[in-house]
Amino acid sequence: MSTPLLQVEDLETSYGDAQALFGVSLRVHPGEFVTLLGRNGMGKTTTVRSIMGLLKPRRGRVVFAGQDVTGWAPFQVARLGIGLVPEQRQVFPNLTVRENLVATAGNRLGHAEPWTLERVYALFPRLRERQGHLGANLSGGEQQMLAIGRALMTNPQLLILDEATEGLAPIVREEIWACLQSLRSEGLAVLIIDKHLVPLLRLADSHHVLEKGRTLWQGDSTALLAARETLRETLGV
Ligand code: ATP
Repeated sequence: MSTPLLQVEDLETSYGDAQALFGVSLRVHPGEFVTLLGRNGMGKTTTVRSIMGLLKPRRGRVVFAGQDVTGWAPFQVARLGIGLVPEQRQVFPNLTVRENLVATAGNRLGHAEPWTLERVYALFPRLRERQGHLGANLSGGEQQMLAIGRALMTNPQLLILDEATEGLAPIVREEIWACLQSLRSEGLAVLIIDKHLVPLLRLADSHHVLEKGRTLWQGDSTALLAARETLRETLGV
C-alpha cells in the first residue's frame, strides 16, 4: 500500500491533569475514506484536536504528508493541506455565505483543478441560493454545507469532519452523504467522525474504534460488519 497521508502513532493527550488519550493510532492513505468511531467522550474530538495542533500531545506522533507535525501550530498544520470541519461548524456569523467561502480560500499546494465558488455551488446548490445571506441566518444544514464548502475552498489533501451530520434532518443528512460520496469519487482523503454507522459502512474504506482514549479495533467495512455485534456497546449504536 502507498505511504500514509496521515499517520497518528500512539497519541497521548491531556486536559491539564486529566488524560483523555492513552494511545490512539490511525492511518489515512491518499484517497482513503476513514472513520473514527466510538461512544461519547471516548476521545474522538481530542484526537482531531491533537492532529490539528489545537492540543499538544504529551506522547506519540502525528505525521502528515511526510512531515512530523506533532506540536505544530494549527495554522501550520492547516497550510500543509488539512481542511477541518469542526464539531460546532463555526461559520462566521457576520459574513455572508460567499464571504465565508472566500475568507479562507487558497490553493497553496497548487492543485491543478482547485475548488472555486462555482464548484462549491455546484456541489451545494443551496449555498448559491443563499450566497448573500449572513452565516448567522442559515439553517443547521446550510451551515454544515457552508462549513464543508469553506474547508474545500482551502484545497485540502485531507478533509476532517467532526460530527458533520449531528442534529441534521434525515433529508439534509442524505445530502451530506451524497456530497461525501462525490468527494470520495474525486479521490479526496477523508477522516470522519460520525454516529451513523450504516452510511459509513458503505462509504468508508476503513474504520477505527476508540474506547476510553485508545484505539480498540480497526478494520475495513466487511470486518466491521462482521464484528458489529461484538462491538455494539463500544460503538454505542
Ligand atoms: P463526543 O462525541 O461527546 O465529543 P468524543 O469521543 O469526541 O465524544 P472527547 O470530546 O474527545 O470525546 O472527550 C474525551 C475525554 O476528554 C472525555 O472524558 C471528556 O470529558 C474530556 N474532555 C473533552 N474536552 C475537554 C476539556 N475541554 N477539558 C477537560 N476535559 C475534556
